[in-house]
Parts: sequence; C-alpha cells; structure tokens
Amino acid sequence: MSTEAVARLDELRTVALSCTECRLAEGRLNVVFGDGNPSADVVFVGEAPGAREDEQGLPFVGPSGKLLERLLGEIGLRREDVYIANVVKCRPPKNRDPRPDEIAACKGYLRKQLGLIDPKVVVTLGNFSSKLLLNTETGITRLRGTAYEWWGRYLVPTFHPAAALRGSAQVLEDMQFDFGLVADAIAGNLGANTDDAEVESAAEPDDDPEQLGLFGA
Ligand code: URA
Repeated sequence: MSTEAVARLDELRTVALSCTECRLAEGRLNVVFGDGNPSADVVFVGEAPGAREDEQGLPFVGPSGKLLERLLGEIGLRREDVYIANVVKCRPPKNRDPRPDEIAACKGYLRKQLGLIDPKVVVTLGNFSSKLLLNTETGITRLRGTAYEWWGRYLVPTFHPAAALRGSAQVLEDMQFDFGLVADAIAGNLGANTDDAEVESAAEPDDDPEQLGLFGA
C-alpha cells in the first residue's frame, strides 16, 4: 500500500471514530473501524461488533477471533498479516442484525477500506456479510465452498466462526476447506490443479447498480 493510501485509511478511521450517521452511535462504547495490515492480501469481513469488540474497539477479539486466528495459522498466516473489518462499525443493541438504514449509513467506510487496501481476496464471515457483498438471497451453506470473481478480486464466503463454535465438527471442516481456497487465491493457484468449478463469477457489476453503489472501488 502506498504511503498516501495509508494516510487516507488513517483519515477515514479518524472520521469514523466520531461518526454519528446512524442510531448505533448512541449506544456504542467504541467505534470498531477495523484492524490489521493495511497492505494485506486478504480482508475478512464480519457482521458487526459484539460486546467485547465494543469494549476494546477492535474486531473479533472474543472466542470467534481465537478460532479465526487458529484457522489463519493453519494456512500460515497470523492475525497481523491480514485486515479484519465488519459491515457496520458500531455494536447493534443486544447484537441484533444491523438494519438497512444502518448499513446504508456505514457502507461507505467498508467500500473505501476495500478500495484503499485493495486485497487479492475478501473473505466474508457468515450469512450476513456474504449475502450483502454478493448481493444475493442465497444462504451461506450454499454459497460457501467456492471462490467468486468479484470486483477484480476473489471473494470467498465462509461460515462465521461463531457457527463453528456452536456447530458440528463439519462446520469447522468446511471452514478449513474455505481457508484452503483463500490460500490458493493468495498464491494465484485457484483452479490450477483442481476443478475449475471452484471459481465462479459473481453478478456482473453493470447488471446491478445497487451493488456498484455498495462496493465498487
Ligand atoms: N462477530 C462479528 O461479526 N464481528 C466481530 O467483530 C465480532 C464478532
């Protein structure tokens, strides 16, 4: 990442830290802007901060974060090698789903984060961010297992780590498979040795102006 892009990401953080564009500003302890390497090859996108994240101002610091770190370790990455963000930057009350107007108020931050970091791979964690970024009603169970071509990079949807923590061993195994796709995408090996069907194209941006508005660089 260029020095200028680092400076612009810092400026964006400063703006976000005092954001009052939606009602979530009223209940928050901290804005959870995002954390990690601004030159990362991979950006993880969760849903919204929970209680611990709100307290510390950092994403994925609870048990889900520990599992994320373990899965990263299995593909040779550390937390500090990647960048981690959420769709919305402030904790919704009682961890309810973010509402459409809250997403609309916050989406510019994620769009700009992705544009500035410019990763090779975006990994969406769970139903919420996967459906939103891929602009689909299809659920994560059907979406995952594939790398999608998305805005000139790859998007790999996988389960939210919380689902693996409360779910079966199969959920964890599926996440390990998906992290394998992430490693292949970073290395430029996707589809090289295996079935090309593991890569699909997401909806063409021109087909969908709303998606263009959401996450185009
Ligand atoms: N779950 C999320 O989606 N994001 C966090 O930052 C923590 C838990």
